[in-house]
Amino acid sequence: MTETTTSGGGRPSLPMQGVPQPSRDEVLNLPRVHISSHPVMAHKMTALRDKNTQPPEFYRLVKEIGALLAYEATATLALETVPIETPMGPMIGERLAGGIGVTPILRAGLGLAEGFREVIPDAQIWHLGLRRDEQTLEAMEYYNQLPHRVDLQVCYAVDPMLATGGSAIDAINVLKRRAIPRLCYVGIIAAPYCLLRLSQTHPDIEIYIATLDESLNDVGYILPGLGDAGDRQFGTF
Ligand code: URA
Repeated sequence: MTETTTSGGGRPSLPMQGVPQPSRDEVLNLPRVHISSHPVMAHKMTALRDKNTQPPEFYRLVKEIGALLAYEATATLALETVPIETPMGPMIGERLAGGIGVTPILRAGLGLAEGFREVIPDAQIWHLGLRRDEQTLEAMEYYNQLPHRVDLQVCYAVDPMLATGGSAIDAINVLKRRAIPRLCYVGIIAAPYCLLRLSQTHPDIEIYIATLDESLNDVGYILPGLGDAGDRQFGTF
């Protein structure tokens, strides 16, 4: 999630108070939304959500879930043929056709990006920092390490919590300014509110998540969720 500013007196704002939210059932069958049904994912999610899971273990789980999501989200990537020699003789092999980019949304996306790197070690990592004023809903890009030369077949924007959707929409807007043939958004837990906004604003992207939760509370945290994914990864309570 992006960093959140507070209102004038230093008190946190209530950006979701009174905002209507869709139910889980209303978003379950959105096109281009993929929700993991893997039992190993469900097992890891329970450990991740548990409030007694400490930051080192939490970070390790985020990486492992990132690797599982990477495996699911790369299942339809394009391949090209390549002639090789095995010790037994020649054959035609296959390799990924074109580069793969991963854009972690700072800072909570870092653990997920590490999981992607376990599966695709030669992925390019494009760091992107977005800050959003919850009063004005203005997004500000405070860090951008996107390269000038783009030669990717796909780029995955990764952020564990798809909550209000503001940073997800902004991140895809930033990536759409690059000539990348295919964009995907990957997260661990989504709220129905975010899924609907993101898929209505960017109907051309694929969304991959580990699980779909119930709703957002008044300050935009996911219920039942897991708390603050950044703090829990990096021990900043
Ligand atoms: N970001 C988080 O870290 N947790 C939430 O529940 C929502 C946004």
